[in-house]
Amino acid sequence: MTVAVILVSSLLYFGSGVGQSAAGLPAELGRRADGSLVSSPKAELLHGFSLAMRLERMLLYPLLLLAFQLSGGAAALRRVLAGQAQPWLARSLPGPVRLVGAVAQRIPHGWRQRLPGSDLMVILLFVLAFHLGLYLLYLPFNFYRSFVVGHQFGLSTLSAGGWLMDWLKSVAIGLVTNGLLWTGFFALMRLAPRRWPIPAGALSLVFSLIFVLVTPVLITPLFYHVSQLDDPNLQQRILALTARVGLEVDEIHVIDASSKTTTVNAYFTGFGGAQRIVLYDNLLNGYTPDQVEVVLAHELGHWYYKHHLLSVLGLGAVAWLGMFALRWLLNKTWRWLKLTGPADVAVLPFILAVAALVGMLTMPVENGISRLAENQADEFALEISQKPQAFIELFEQFAEQNLSVVDVPDWEKFIFYTHPPVAERIARANRFSRSAQNQ
Ligand SMILES: [Zn+2]
Repeated sequence: MTVAVILVSSLLYFGSGVGQSAAGLPAELGRRADGSLVSSPKAELLHGFSLAMRLERMLLYPLLLLAFQLSGGAAALRRVLAGQAQPWLARSLPGPVRLVGAVAQRIPHGWRQRLPGSDLMVILLFVLAFHLGLYLLYLPFNFYRSFVVGHQFGLSTLSAGGWLMDWLKSVAIGLVTNGLLWTGFFALMRLAPRRWPIPAGALSLVFSLIFVLVTPVLITPLFYHVSQLDDPNLQQRILALTARVGLEVDEIHVIDASSKTTTVNAYFTGFGGAQRIVLYDNLLNGYTPDQVEVVLAHELGHWYYKHHLLSVLGLGAVAWLGMFALRWLLNKTWRWLKLTGPADVAVLPFILAVAALVGMLTMPVENGISRLAENQADEFALEISQKPQAFIELFEQFAEQNLSVVDVPDWEKFIFYTHPPVAERIARANRFSRSAQNQ
Protein backbone atom coordinates (compact mmCIF):
# COMPACT_ATOMS: atom_id res chain seq x y z
CA MET A 1 0.00 0.00 0.00
CA THR A 2 2.75 2.44 1.04
CA VAL A 3 4.81 1.44 -2.01
CA ALA A 4 1.79 2.06 -4.26
CA VAL A 5 1.18 5.52 -2.77
CA ILE A 6 4.84 6.49 -3.25
CA LEU A 7 4.75 5.23 -6.84
CA VAL A 8 1.53 6.94 -7.93
CA SER A 9 1.67 10.13 -5.84
CA SER A 10 3.61 12.03 -8.52
CA LEU A 11 0.91 11.07 -11.08
CA LEU A 12 -1.72 12.44 -8.71
CA TYR A 13 0.14 15.74 -8.31
CA PHE A 14 0.56 15.98 -12.08
CA GLY A 15 -3.06 15.00 -12.71
CA SER A 16 -4.26 17.80 -10.43
CA GLY A 17 -2.96 20.27 -13.06
CA VAL A 18 -1.71 22.65 -10.35
CA GLY A 19 1.90 22.61 -11.56
CA GLN A 20 0.87 23.23 -15.18
CA SER A 21 -0.78 26.51 -14.15
CA ALA A 22 2.54 27.85 -12.78
CA ALA A 23 3.78 29.17 -16.13
CA GLY A 24 0.97 31.76 -16.32
CA LEU A 25 1.57 33.19 -12.84
CA PRO A 26 3.59 36.36 -12.16
CA ALA A 27 6.90 35.91 -10.32
CA GLU A 28 7.27 39.51 -9.17
CA LEU A 29 7.14 40.44 -5.50
CA GLY A 30 4.38 42.77 -4.37
CA ARG A 31 4.62 45.58 -1.83
CA ARG A 32 2.12 46.68 0.81
CA ALA A 33 1.34 50.32 1.60
CA ASP A 34 3.79 50.21 4.56
CA GLY A 35 6.60 49.03 2.26
CA SER A 36 6.67 45.39 3.43
CA LEU A 37 6.98 42.70 0.77
CA VAL A 38 4.34 40.25 -0.47
CA SER A 39 5.36 36.89 -1.97
CA SER A 40 4.76 36.42 -5.68
CA PRO A 41 1.77 34.20 -6.66
CA LYS A 42 4.20 31.81 -8.36
CA ALA A 43 6.30 31.49 -5.21
CA GLU A 44 3.14 30.90 -3.12
CA LEU A 45 2.07 28.08 -5.43
CA LEU A 46 5.51 26.44 -5.39
CA HIS A 47 5.66 26.74 -1.64
CA GLY A 48 2.33 24.95 -1.11
CA PHE A 49 3.37 22.26 -3.55
CA SER A 50 6.81 21.66 -2.02
CA LEU A 51 5.38 21.57 1.48
CA ALA A 52 2.89 18.87 0.46
CA MET A 53 5.65 16.75 -1.10
CA ARG A 54 7.93 17.31 1.86
CA LEU A 55 5.26 16.17 4.32
CA GLU A 56 4.40 13.19 2.14
CA ARG A 57 8.01 12.05 2.05
CA MET A 58 8.48 12.66 5.78
CA LEU A 59 5.48 10.53 6.73
CA LEU A 60 5.69 7.77 4.12
CA TYR A 61 9.42 7.07 4.26
CA PRO A 62 9.51 5.68 7.85
CA LEU A 63 6.20 3.90 7.21
CA LEU A 64 7.66 2.19 4.17
CA LEU A 65 10.74 1.07 6.09
CA LEU A 66 8.69 -0.26 9.00
CA ALA A 67 6.32 -2.08 6.63
CA PHE A 68 9.28 -3.75 4.90
CA GLN A 69 10.73 -4.72 8.29
CA LEU A 70 7.58 -5.96 10.01
CA SER A 71 6.21 -7.84 7.01
CA GLY A 72 9.35 -10.00 7.10
CA GLY A 73 10.56 -8.56 3.76
CA ALA A 74 13.95 -7.58 5.16
CA ALA A 75 14.59 -11.02 6.66
CA ALA A 76 13.51 -12.68 3.40
CA LEU A 77 15.93 -10.51 1.40
CA ARG A 78 18.76 -11.45 3.78
CA ARG A 79 17.91 -15.17 3.41
CA VAL A 80 17.94 -14.97 -0.39
CA LEU A 81 21.28 -13.14 -0.38
CA ALA A 82 22.77 -15.57 2.16
CA GLY A 83 21.87 -18.41 -0.22
CA GLN A 84 23.82 -16.60 -2.96
CA ALA A 85 26.79 -15.40 -0.95
CA GLN A 86 28.55 -18.71 -0.29
CA PRO A 87 28.77 -19.86 -3.94
CA TRP A 88 29.73 -16.33 -5.07
CA LEU A 89 32.54 -16.20 -2.59
CA ALA A 90 33.70 -19.70 -3.55
CA ARG A 91 33.76 -18.77 -7.25
CA SER A 92 35.70 -15.63 -6.31
CA LEU A 93 33.95 -13.23 -8.63
CA PRO A 94 35.77 -10.07 -9.70
CA GLY A 95 35.66 -6.65 -8.10
CA PRO A 96 34.04 -5.94 -4.76
CA VAL A 97 33.20 -9.60 -4.16
CA ARG A 98 36.82 -10.71 -4.36
CA LEU A 99 37.88 -7.70 -2.32
CA VAL A 100 35.54 -8.64 0.53
CA GLY A 101 36.83 -12.23 0.36
CA ALA A 102 40.43 -10.99 0.56
CA VAL A 103 39.64 -8.69 3.48
CA ALA A 104 37.89 -11.53 5.28
CA GLN A 105 40.97 -13.77 4.88
CA ARG A 106 43.14 -11.17 6.61
CA ILE A 107 40.92 -10.93 9.65
CA PRO A 108 42.57 -12.60 12.69
CA HIS A 109 41.28 -16.09 13.46
CA GLY A 110 39.24 -15.17 16.58
CA TRP A 111 37.51 -12.41 14.69
CA ARG A 112 36.98 -14.61 11.65
CA GLN A 113 34.85 -16.90 13.80
CA ARG A 114 32.65 -13.99 14.77
CA LEU A 115 32.51 -12.62 11.28
CA PRO A 116 33.11 -15.20 8.52
CA GLY A 117 33.80 -13.82 5.01
CA SER A 118 30.45 -15.06 3.75
CA ASP A 119 28.64 -13.08 6.48
CA LEU A 120 30.54 -9.93 5.55
CA MET A 121 29.51 -10.59 1.97
CA VAL A 122 25.82 -10.95 2.92
CA ILE A 123 25.99 -7.67 4.84
CA LEU A 124 27.46 -5.80 1.87
CA LEU A 125 25.01 -7.32 -0.62
CA PHE A 126 22.06 -6.56 1.63
CA VAL A 127 23.08 -2.93 2.13
CA LEU A 128 23.56 -2.45 -1.63
CA ALA A 129 20.38 -4.26 -2.70
CA PHE A 130 18.25 -2.50 -0.10
CA HIS A 131 19.51 0.99 -0.98
CA LEU A 132 19.25 0.33 -4.70
CA GLY A 133 15.61 -0.68 -4.15
CA LEU A 134 14.96 2.58 -2.28
CA TYR A 135 16.57 4.70 -5.01
CA LEU A 136 14.51 2.97 -7.72
CA LEU A 137 11.26 3.22 -5.78
CA TYR A 138 11.77 6.95 -5.24
CA LEU A 139 12.98 7.59 -8.81
CA PRO A 140 9.55 8.62 -10.25
CA PHE A 141 8.78 10.78 -7.20
CA ASN A 142 12.16 12.53 -7.31
CA PHE A 143 12.01 12.98 -11.08
CA TYR A 144 8.61 14.63 -10.72
CA ARG A 145 9.62 16.78 -7.76
CA SER A 146 12.87 18.02 -9.19
CA PHE A 147 12.62 17.77 -13.00
CA VAL A 148 8.91 18.15 -13.85
CA VAL A 149 8.09 20.73 -11.17
CA GLY A 150 11.47 22.42 -11.80
CA HIS A 151 10.51 22.96 -15.46
CA GLN A 152 6.89 23.91 -14.73
CA PHE A 153 8.17 26.73 -12.52
CA GLY A 154 11.07 27.61 -14.83
CA LEU A 155 13.70 26.79 -12.21
CA SER A 156 15.45 23.90 -13.96
CA THR A 157 17.65 24.24 -17.04
CA LEU A 158 18.49 20.51 -17.24
CA SER A 159 17.46 18.16 -20.04
CA ALA A 160 15.83 14.87 -18.99
CA GLY A 161 19.06 13.07 -19.98
CA GLY A 162 21.13 15.49 -17.92
CA TRP A 163 18.85 14.99 -14.93
CA LEU A 164 19.09 11.21 -15.26
CA MET A 165 22.89 11.40 -15.52
CA ASP A 166 23.03 13.39 -12.26
CA TRP A 167 20.68 10.88 -10.66
CA LEU A 168 22.93 7.97 -11.73
CA LYS A 169 25.97 9.71 -10.28
CA SER A 170 24.25 10.35 -6.95
CA VAL A 171 23.05 6.74 -6.82
CA ALA A 172 26.62 5.55 -7.41
CA ILE A 173 27.94 7.86 -4.67
CA GLY A 174 25.12 6.79 -2.34
CA LEU A 175 25.81 3.09 -2.91
CA VAL A 176 29.54 3.45 -2.29
CA THR A 177 29.16 5.54 0.89
CA ASN A 178 26.25 3.50 2.30
CA GLY A 179 27.98 0.25 1.37
CA LEU A 180 31.13 1.30 3.21
CA LEU A 181 29.38 2.82 6.22
CA TRP A 182 26.83 0.12 6.94
CA THR A 183 29.13 -2.82 6.18
CA GLY A 184 31.62 -1.30 8.59
CA PHE A 185 28.86 -0.70 11.12
CA PHE A 186 27.51 -4.26 11.11
CA ALA A 187 31.04 -5.71 11.03
CA LEU A 188 31.84 -3.75 14.22
CA MET A 189 28.64 -5.01 15.85
CA ARG A 190 29.71 -8.59 15.17
CA LEU A 191 33.34 -8.11 16.23
CA ALA A 192 32.59 -6.18 19.43
CA PRO A 193 29.05 -7.27 20.41
CA ARG A 194 29.07 -5.23 23.63
CA ARG A 195 31.39 -2.30 22.99
CA TRP A 196 30.60 -1.51 19.35
CA PRO A 197 29.06 1.95 20.04
CA ILE A 198 32.50 3.28 21.04
CA PRO A 199 34.40 2.46 17.81
CA ALA A 200 31.30 2.94 15.65
CA GLY A 201 30.75 6.48 17.00
CA ALA A 202 34.42 7.36 16.54
CA LEU A 203 34.49 5.97 13.01
CA SER A 204 31.30 7.75 11.96
CA LEU A 205 32.77 11.05 13.19
CA VAL A 206 36.01 10.45 11.28
CA PHE A 207 33.97 9.44 8.24
CA SER A 208 31.95 12.66 8.26
CA LEU A 209 35.08 14.79 8.68
CA ILE A 210 36.69 13.03 5.72
CA PHE A 211 33.48 13.36 3.72
CA VAL A 212 33.39 17.12 4.29
CA LEU A 213 37.01 17.37 3.15
CA VAL A 214 36.67 15.27 0.00
CA THR A 215 33.26 16.55 -1.16
CA PRO A 216 34.56 19.76 -2.83
CA VAL A 217 37.51 17.91 -4.36
CA LEU A 218 35.91 14.63 -5.49
CA ILE A 219 32.14 15.04 -5.56
CA THR A 220 31.35 18.64 -6.58
CA PRO A 221 33.46 18.34 -9.79
CA LEU A 222 31.36 15.31 -10.79
CA PHE A 223 28.34 17.60 -11.07
CA TYR A 224 29.78 21.03 -11.90
CA HIS A 225 32.65 22.71 -13.60
CA VAL A 226 34.57 24.33 -10.74
CA SER A 227 36.88 27.33 -11.21
CA GLN A 228 38.63 29.89 -9.03
CA LEU A 229 36.97 33.31 -8.77
CA ASP A 230 38.73 35.40 -11.36
CA ASP A 231 37.52 38.97 -10.99
CA PRO A 232 40.07 41.61 -9.86
CA ASN A 233 37.36 44.00 -8.65
CA LEU A 234 35.74 41.36 -6.41
CA GLN A 235 39.10 40.11 -5.20
CA GLN A 236 39.96 43.64 -4.13
CA ARG A 237 36.69 43.84 -2.19
CA ILE A 238 37.34 40.49 -0.51
CA LEU A 239 40.79 41.62 0.56
CA ALA A 240 39.28 44.74 2.09
CA LEU A 241 36.66 42.66 3.95
CA THR A 242 39.06 40.03 5.25
CA ALA A 243 41.65 42.61 6.33
CA ARG A 244 38.99 44.09 8.63
CA VAL A 245 38.55 40.84 10.55
CA GLY A 246 42.01 39.33 10.19
CA LEU A 247 41.02 36.33 8.07
CA GLU A 248 43.07 34.87 5.28
CA VAL A 249 40.80 33.68 2.52
CA ASP A 250 42.22 32.46 -0.74
CA GLU A 251 39.75 29.76 -1.78
CA ILE A 252 36.78 31.26 -3.54
CA HIS A 253 35.33 28.93 -6.15
CA VAL A 254 32.69 29.41 -8.79
CA ILE A 255 30.50 26.54 -10.07
CA ASP A 256 28.55 26.61 -13.35
CA ALA A 257 25.20 26.10 -11.62
CA SER A 258 23.48 27.84 -14.57
CA SER A 259 23.89 24.56 -16.49
CA LYS A 260 21.28 23.04 -14.16
CA THR A 261 19.22 25.75 -12.52
CA THR A 262 18.10 29.38 -12.67
CA THR A 263 18.30 29.74 -8.88
CA VAL A 264 21.10 31.58 -7.06
CA ASN A 265 23.11 30.43 -4.11
CA ALA A 266 26.48 30.49 -2.37
CA TYR A 267 27.83 28.36 0.43
CA PHE A 268 30.76 27.83 2.71
CA THR A 269 32.33 24.45 3.33
CA GLY A 270 35.29 22.75 5.00
CA PHE A 271 37.50 23.47 7.98
CA GLY A 272 41.18 23.91 8.82
CA GLY A 273 43.27 24.34 5.68
CA ALA A 274 40.48 23.12 3.41
CA GLN A 275 37.93 25.91 3.84
CA ARG A 276 36.33 27.46 0.81
CA ILE A 277 33.50 29.68 -0.34
CA VAL A 278 31.55 28.44 -3.36
CA LEU A 279 29.51 30.84 -5.51
CA TYR A 280 26.93 29.99 -8.20
CA ASP A 281 27.83 31.60 -11.52
CA ASN A 282 24.21 32.87 -11.59
CA LEU A 283 25.16 35.16 -8.73
CA LEU A 284 28.10 36.71 -10.58
CA ASN A 285 26.04 37.17 -13.73
CA GLY A 286 22.91 38.79 -12.36
CA TYR A 287 23.92 40.81 -9.28
CA THR A 288 25.72 44.08 -8.58
CA PRO A 289 29.26 44.00 -7.12
CA ASP A 290 27.84 45.44 -3.85
CA GLN A 291 25.32 42.58 -3.61
CA VAL A 292 27.99 39.93 -4.32
CA GLU A 293 30.14 41.58 -1.66
CA VAL A 294 27.30 41.15 0.85
CA VAL A 295 27.04 37.45 -0.06
CA LEU A 296 30.78 37.03 0.39
CA ALA A 297 30.62 38.89 3.71
CA HIS A 298 27.89 36.49 4.88
CA GLU A 299 29.95 33.42 3.89
CA LEU A 300 32.99 34.96 5.61
CA GLY A 301 30.83 35.07 8.74
CA HIS A 302 30.48 31.28 8.59
CA TRP A 303 34.23 31.08 8.04
CA TYR A 304 34.98 33.43 10.94
CA TYR A 305 32.76 31.55 13.42
CA LYS A 306 33.84 28.06 12.16
CA HIS A 307 30.17 27.09 11.76
CA HIS A 308 30.85 24.15 9.50
CA LEU A 309 33.34 22.41 11.76
CA LEU A 310 31.14 23.05 14.81
CA SER A 311 28.12 21.51 13.10
CA VAL A 312 30.01 18.38 12.03
CA LEU A 313 31.45 17.94 15.54
CA GLY A 314 28.09 18.64 17.19
CA LEU A 315 26.21 16.19 14.99
CA GLY A 316 29.02 13.66 15.44
CA ALA A 317 28.75 13.90 19.23
CA VAL A 318 24.97 13.45 19.11
CA ALA A 319 25.33 10.48 16.74
CA TRP A 320 27.87 8.91 19.09
CA LEU A 321 25.44 9.13 22.02
CA GLY A 322 22.74 7.83 19.69
CA MET A 323 24.78 4.64 19.13
CA PHE A 324 24.41 3.73 22.81
CA ALA A 325 20.66 4.30 22.65
CA LEU A 326 20.54 2.19 19.49
CA ARG A 327 22.40 -0.68 21.18
CA TRP A 328 19.83 -0.65 23.98
CA LEU A 329 16.95 -0.57 21.48
CA LEU A 330 18.33 -3.37 19.28
CA ASN A 331 18.98 -5.62 22.29
CA LYS A 332 15.36 -5.08 23.34
CA THR A 333 13.71 -5.54 19.94
CA TRP A 334 15.59 -8.08 17.80
CA ARG A 335 13.51 -11.04 19.00
CA TRP A 336 10.28 -9.16 18.48
CA LEU A 337 11.45 -8.28 14.95
CA LYS A 338 12.08 -12.03 14.37
CA LEU A 339 15.76 -11.53 13.57
CA THR A 340 18.75 -13.80 14.24
CA GLY A 341 20.34 -11.28 16.67
CA PRO A 342 20.88 -7.55 17.30
CA ALA A 343 23.62 -7.52 14.63
CA ASP A 344 21.46 -9.13 11.91
CA VAL A 345 21.85 -6.91 8.84
CA ALA A 346 18.12 -7.37 8.16
CA VAL A 347 17.53 -4.84 10.98
CA LEU A 348 18.78 -2.02 8.71
CA PRO A 349 15.28 -0.78 7.63
CA PHE A 350 14.28 -0.62 11.30
CA ILE A 351 17.40 1.41 12.17
CA LEU A 352 16.73 3.80 9.27
CA ALA A 353 13.08 4.16 10.28
CA VAL A 354 14.05 4.96 13.88
CA ALA A 355 16.68 7.42 12.62
CA ALA A 356 14.07 9.11 10.40
CA LEU A 357 11.59 9.38 13.29
CA VAL A 358 14.23 10.70 15.68
CA GLY A 359 15.39 13.08 12.94
CA MET A 360 11.83 14.35 12.58
CA LEU A 361 11.62 15.06 16.31
CA THR A 362 15.03 16.73 16.52
CA MET A 363 14.69 18.71 13.27
CA PRO A 364 13.30 21.83 15.02
CA VAL A 365 16.31 21.88 17.37
CA GLU A 366 18.81 21.32 14.58
CA ASN A 367 17.17 23.95 12.36
CA GLY A 368 16.92 26.36 15.29
CA ILE A 369 20.69 26.10 15.77
CA SER A 370 21.20 26.54 12.02
CA ARG A 371 19.04 29.71 11.99
CA LEU A 372 21.08 31.08 14.91
CA ALA A 373 24.26 30.56 12.88
CA GLU A 374 22.66 32.20 9.82
CA ASN A 375 21.57 35.21 11.88
CA GLN A 376 25.11 35.46 13.21
CA ALA A 377 26.51 35.39 9.65
CA ASP A 378 23.95 38.03 8.51
CA GLU A 379 24.90 40.31 11.40
CA PHE A 380 28.56 39.78 10.55
CA ALA A 381 27.89 40.58 6.88
CA LEU A 382 26.15 43.85 7.76
CA GLU A 383 28.91 44.82 10.20
CA ILE A 384 31.86 44.25 7.91
CA SER A 385 30.30 45.34 4.62
CA GLN A 386 28.29 48.28 6.02
CA LYS A 387 25.92 47.90 3.06
CA PRO A 388 22.40 47.38 4.46
CA GLN A 389 20.76 48.71 1.29
CA ALA A 390 22.61 46.21 -0.94
CA PHE A 391 21.72 43.51 1.62
CA ILE A 392 18.01 44.34 1.34
CA GLU A 393 18.03 44.45 -2.46
CA LEU A 394 19.99 41.20 -2.56
CA PHE A 395 17.38 39.28 -0.58
CA GLU A 396 14.50 40.82 -2.53
CA GLN A 397 16.13 39.67 -5.75
CA PHE A 398 16.89 36.24 -4.22
CA ALA A 399 13.24 35.77 -3.26
CA GLU A 400 12.11 36.67 -6.76
CA GLN A 401 14.66 34.57 -8.61
CA ASN A 402 14.49 31.50 -6.33
CA LEU A 403 10.68 31.73 -6.02
CA SER A 404 10.90 31.76 -2.22
CA VAL A 405 8.01 33.02 -0.16
CA VAL A 406 8.82 36.15 1.79
CA ASP A 407 7.53 34.86 5.10
CA VAL A 408 6.04 31.66 6.55
CA PRO A 409 3.95 30.83 9.63
CA ASP A 410 5.98 30.42 12.82
CA TRP A 411 5.29 26.67 13.08
CA GLU A 412 6.69 26.10 9.60
CA LYS A 413 9.78 28.17 10.25
CA PHE A 414 10.27 26.37 13.58
CA ILE A 415 10.15 22.89 11.99
CA PHE A 416 11.59 23.24 8.50
CA TYR A 417 13.61 26.42 8.05
CA THR A 418 17.41 26.21 8.18
CA HIS A 419 17.60 29.92 7.25
CA PRO A 420 15.50 32.81 8.53
CA PRO A 421 12.76 33.80 6.04
CA VAL A 422 13.53 36.71 3.72
CA ALA A 423 11.25 39.14 5.61
CA GLU A 424 13.21 38.52 8.80
CA ARG A 425 16.56 39.03 7.09
CA ILE A 426 15.40 42.29 5.53
CA ALA A 427 14.02 43.46 8.90
CA ARG A 428 17.47 42.83 10.40
CA ALA A 429 19.10 45.01 7.75
CA ASN A 430 16.52 47.74 8.36
CA ARG A 431 17.26 47.68 12.09
CA PHE A 432 20.97 47.83 11.34
CA SER A 433 20.61 50.81 9.07
CA ARG A 434 18.40 52.67 11.61
CA SER A 435 20.89 52.11 14.42
CA ALA A 436 23.74 53.21 12.13
CA GLN A 437 21.86 56.43 11.38
CA ASN A 438 21.24 57.08 15.08
CA GLN A 439 24.91 56.87 15.94
ZN1 LIG B 1 24.66 31.13 5.49
